[in-house]
Amino acid sequence: MKTIFTTLLVIFTAVMCVCCIYFKRTKTEVSKSLFRLHCGAIFSCVLYLFSIFNLPALLSYFINSIYYASIHFLLILLTNFIFTLTQFPFKEEHKKYVVSLKKIWLFLFTLDALSFLLNPFFHHEFELSRLFVNKDVFLCWTPRFFWPFQIHLGLCYILSALIFIVLGIKIWQTNRFYRSKYIITIAIFFIVLLINAFFLWLDTYLDFSILLYSVFSIICSYFTIYATTKRVQNTMLQQLSETINIGIFVFNLDRKCIFSNKTAKNLQFTTDALLEELKSLLIYRKDLIKRNIKIILNDQEHTLAEEFCYLLDSQKKICGYILKMNDITEELKRSAEESYRSTHDELTGLLTRKAFYEEGERILKSEPDTERYLICTNIKNFKLLNDLCGSEIGDALLKEFANLLKAEKTKSILSGRITGDRFAILINKEDLDKDHGLEKIFKLENFISDSQLANYKFHILIGIYKITDPTEKIGVMYDKAALTLKHISDNYSINVAYYKKEMLSSLEKNKKILDSFKQALKNNHFKMYLQPQVRCSDEKVAGAEALVRWETENGSSFSPEKFIRVLEDNGQIYRLDQFIWEQAAQTIQRWQAQKIDLSIAVNVSANDFYHLDLFKHFTALVKKYGIPPQKLKLEITETVLIHDLTLHKQTLTKLQDFGFIIEMDDFGSGYSSLMVLKNIDVDILKIDMAFLSKTEHEERSKKILQYVIKMAQKLGIKIIVEGVETLEQAKFLKKLHCDFFQGYLYSKPVSTEEFERKFLQQFQKTGQDGGNDQ
Ligand code: C2E
Ligand code: CA
Ligand code: CA
Repeated sequence: MKTIFTTLLVIFTAVMCVCCIYFKRTKTEVSKSLFRLHCGAIFSCVLYLFSIFNLPALLSYFINSIYYASIHFLLILLTNFIFTLTQFPFKEEHKKYVVSLKKIWLFLFTLDALSFLLNPFFHHEFELSRLFVNKDVFLCWTPRFFWPFQIHLGLCYILSALIFIVLGIKIWQTNRFYRSKYIITIAIFFIVLLINAFFLWLDTYLDFSILLYSVFSIICSYFTIYATTKRVQNTMLQQLSETINIGIFVFNLDRKCIFSNKTAKNLQFTTDALLEELKSLLIYRKDLIKRNIKIILNDQEHTLAEEFCYLLDSQKKICGYILKMNDITEELKRSAEESYRSTHDELTGLLTRKAFYEEGERILKSEPDTERYLICTNIKNFKLLNDLCGSEIGDALLKEFANLLKAEKTKSILSGRITGDRFAILINKEDLDKDHGLEKIFKLENFISDSQLANYKFHILIGIYKITDPTEKIGVMYDKAALTLKHISDNYSINVAYYKKEMLSSLEKNKKILDSFKQALKNNHFKMYLQPQVRCSDEKVAGAEALVRWETENGSSFSPEKFIRVLEDNGQIYRLDQFIWEQAAQTIQRWQAQKIDLSIAVNVSANDFYHLDLFKHFTALVKKYGIPPQKLKLEITETVLIHDLTLHKQTLTKLQDFGFIIEMDDFGSGYSSLMVLKNIDVDILKIDMAFLSKTEHEERSKKILQYVIKMAQKLGIKIIVEGVETLEQAKFLKKLHCDFFQGYLYSKPVSTEEFERKFLQQFQKTGQDGGNDQ
């Protein structure tokens, strides 16, 4: 009997040791506490094993004392495990109470253990007596029901009760799915207690309950850390396979379908024939099969992505096959749409810049011997059209333009929208030469079909670059084509230009100008020249226009035409303009001090509106020099309004309200003068000398000028005509009752000193009667 018991106990202890190794490997909190619990249990079992042997009395007493104390310790470890398993305390804020409770309990345990260790001497906890049964000697254990033993029992009962309560609450609170592991734990614990009581009551000389404890502890571990996790995994996998949009078929080694998920069942159109075909493929192929197939379902073509792979067991041996079927029709459609969106412009449907460059480079690389051109187009005054007529009209125009380009697709043409109103076209030479390839684009307005656009006139600028080196970056080719546009942007009679090498060298010249500009400004190389503005009625000087001159160190000067445009294009003109405005204000102040009542008109570039707060700047300037705003006139061109009509109009109105006089410069030379006149209330019109130049249409020009002057008079706007070179012109203007003129006839622009010498003396000699009434 003793041998059987000992053997069984050794086996169970060994099983628990194996469990311990497993728990050590699984590094969760629960397995850690199970590890500790099992270590405690192994310790108790080993002690019990020793206690069975017939040892000297005192040693037997000691071993038994430690064994009984260890039962209390085991209960503590069990409580710990239950706490970890149930995540007790359930509220974070209660954690501190549990920590204190554990400390108290450890203290009580220490006292209890001490009391047991003293038992060999005082026999106050239990007595041991020897019993001889069938030649075997057994140690019989009899408790002494003194208070120390009662306290020991009490402590054990309290811990057991605590375990019941915690598990009970957890079972009550937990979702049904996870409840089972707690129910199993509480049931096992209950059975253990019952068995324990039973053996106590039976009063056997061997404690069989210890054998059952080991079995139960192993069952409990299985349910708490292995079975539940597996169950969760299985449920999750099952749900996943039912909810995913991929049809899954599983075949065994005999190629019989042993599982198919919901989607797979819905995919019954993957007829048996199809499966048969795949299965027959499997016989010959050892690798995976992946392919897309097209099928017709509900009269619509669907694309299925098929994947056949092996089902492997834990030893990685083939134990079946998995067929995955995914309906990727929508996905393919979406990705095709996405790739279209990423390469095509949303508004016009043409290629985007990036896509145009990529596709263009591919074409050039694949057929390097074909002669080609790269064309850049620009819609003149597109911004003004947007501002005046609304972006709807602007968009309609862009779409119309793009449609014309798309219609040319039959020819070897690649077109794209680069930015805003700029388009690029890559075209074969013969297509451009033959039947004037892009005629529709060259004369856009004749081919407009959108009725919204019927009443507008458009001017398309076209820059053409002949590709000589197909390996050149297409972006550089585009820049060269775009560079040609700059050379024709001021000219309304030409709208097509071919790129020439000189254009690039002019670009380099511009760079030089820009590089030396700041130094020149610092070194005072810029001078304000004045050109008199003369009253028509008595031919007396009424004011002057400030015109800048750049005097280089070697004494030569170069004309504004050469550098103003460069500075404007590079956003630097505001620095120069500020300098000239300051000079003009200083001069007016000096004249004022000499009681000379003349005004100076300064040029305000369109770019100045972006770099400066013009209202603030001009009001501060006249305050600084103490001059009336009427004396500093502001000449603007229509380009100011082309850039941002509403915003700039506001600034101009504020300036006029403050007292400044606004002159519209170069009136008639631009494109939309009358349109601008309708929108902004200028004080003076400055008519471009081009009206008076001797052309074959001189008579017509004169008539137009006559009517413009009449119109201005009706609107209460004064007129200055500039570029007056002959007496005949002056007489003609007088006849038309024009207010002022400016031109070489009277004087070229001269330095301030020369202006003062020539005109102020004359002005002073005649007294104040030549005063300004502009
Ligand atoms: P603009 O404002 O139209 O100035 C009139 C231009 O016509 C001046 O050229 C002037 O010298 C020239 N001119 C005057 N009378 C006659 C004439 O009878 N016959 C001919 N053929 N020409 C005449 P300039 O000084 O070379 O200036 C050219 C342009 O440069 C100016 O045109 C103006 O747009 C710009 N500019 C000049 N100074 C400045 C400045 O300080 N700031 C800004 N932003 N632009 C300036
Ligand atoms: Ca001017
Ligand atoms: Ca002018």
